[in-house]
Amino acid sequence: MTIEFESPKPITQMQFVLKTVAEEMMRSKSREFDENEHAIPWDYVEFMHTAMRSMGGGGGLAPTEEKNNGGNGSGEKRPPIGYQKLAAQIEMLSWGDVGFYLITPGGGLGAAAVQAAGSPEQKAKFLARFNEEKPTFAAMCMTEAGAGSDTSAIRTRAVLDEAAKEWVINGEKIFVTGGDKSFTEYEKLGKGFIVVWASIDPTAGRAGMRAFVVESGTKGVTIAKLEDKLGIRASDTAAISLVDARVPYENVLGSPTVEKTTTGFKGAMATFDATRPLVAASGIGVARAALEFLKEKLAENHVEIRYGLPRQKLSNIEREVIDMEIMLKSAWLMVLKAVWMADNKKSNALESSMSKVKAGDVTTKITQKAVEIMGPLGYSREFLFEKWFRDAKITDIYEGTGQINRLVVARHILGYSGSELR
Ligand SMILES: Cc1cc2nc3c(=O)[nH]c(=O)nc-3n(C[C@H](O)[C@H](O)[C@H](O)COP(=O)(O)OP(=O)(O)OC[C@H]3O[C@@H](n4cnc5c(N)ncnc54)[C@H](O)[C@@H]3O)c2cc1C
Repeated sequence: MTIEFESPKPITQMQFVLKTVAEEMMRSKSREFDENEHAIPWDYVEFMHTAMRSMGGGGGLAPTEEKNNGGNGSGEKRPPIGYQKLAAQIEMLSWGDVGFYLITPGGGLGAAAVQAAGSPEQKAKFLARFNEEKPTFAAMCMTEAGAGSDTSAIRTRAVLDEAAKEWVINGEKIFVTGGDKSFTEYEKLGKGFIVVWASIDPTAGRAGMRAFVVESGTKGVTIAKLEDKLGIRASDTAAISLVDARVPYENVLGSPTVEKTTTGFKGAMATFDATRPLVAASGIGVARAALEFLKEKLAENHVEIRYGLPRQKLSNIEREVIDMEIMLKSAWLMVLKAVWMADNKKSNALESSMSKVKAGDVTTKITQKAVEIMGPLGYSREFLFEKWFRDAKITDIYEGTGQINRLVVARHILGYSGSELR
């Protein structure tokens, strides 16, 4: 067996195209949309939707298989690369601007939940809309005040009104990425939805937890607040209130009754095995942007990195830059391993969390170092260094904080269950 370190051609070709988008449509507008947090870069949203539709990927950023999965000329079937390609796409878009990347139209985590826990009918009903004429969004509402890392503490309740055949949902969700674009009815957008996690039986713990598709415009649901954030400011983050919100009986994802197992909940949580390396890839894109621009600025000031010299002969800045490059490459290799496993249908819960932990650490360190090495110019708004520093931190927070992913890693290595090691 040979180990191939070269990126497959479909990935390098895609990176080439996306680099232009990243430079022309994202990076050039980074500062403007960072300073106007609740403005929407419609040009980008509409362009990306049209471009993805024309390439047959109107469902948004999702793993796709190449049509010609057989051809290196030898007639051998090429191994699947859907997740590897997606990670490279996300890395490149985040290199352009991570806030913009997060508002790339499509189903996001909301559609991922439908994909993971929905029936064939639900998938047909809720997923087709992302390929229609207008850009459309979906979001995932899991977190509540007091229920972030500990999802068993979710207090949102869904009660079945048997006569009306409707679920009645009450609760408060916070920090919903893309919540506004998924729920508010904008003229330029198609009808989106949010996926709300609620308990149908609080005495059953996680076994009583279900996800519900709540269509945009549903009565009783309001965007209570749009967050003013440290970073990723081109992306909206909403608090959403649900007061006697009624959704059709068939909008529950998974069984409408409580069984004594947590299989359904675990199934949905497994989506994170697929998405955590993608969050890592996104952070790595931000760090690469900072590192490349740092090297460019150093070169302008005649500081070249003399790679061939022994370490003791290098200047401190050269050593720092080389260390940053090592960190970045090692984090990327961990992402590649996790997505390669996903592509090859291997269980990757350990590698997925490891890649997210590593990327969380590395991206915050690299962007911080870039600010530091640039001195006052790193700290000022003259350049994007300070913005990349602010944007990077989220890598270590959403889809499981660094601490929680460390726990996941430890449980896998030591063979402990969630209740044995928390
Ligand atoms: C910009 C942004 C976007 C987000 N988007 C979404 C979204 O789309 N949908 C959604 O549902 N949520 C979203 N979140 C929420 C995010 O997933 C949570 O913030 C995260 O899971 C942490 O939960 P928490 O905020 O309740 O913190 P807590 O769980 O209260 O944790 C606080 C601190 O304690 C640490 N901690 C907690 N438990 C342990 C433990 N057992 N061992 C060691 N340390 C521990 C945590 O790591 C953290 O540092 C978003 C958050 C942000 C900031």
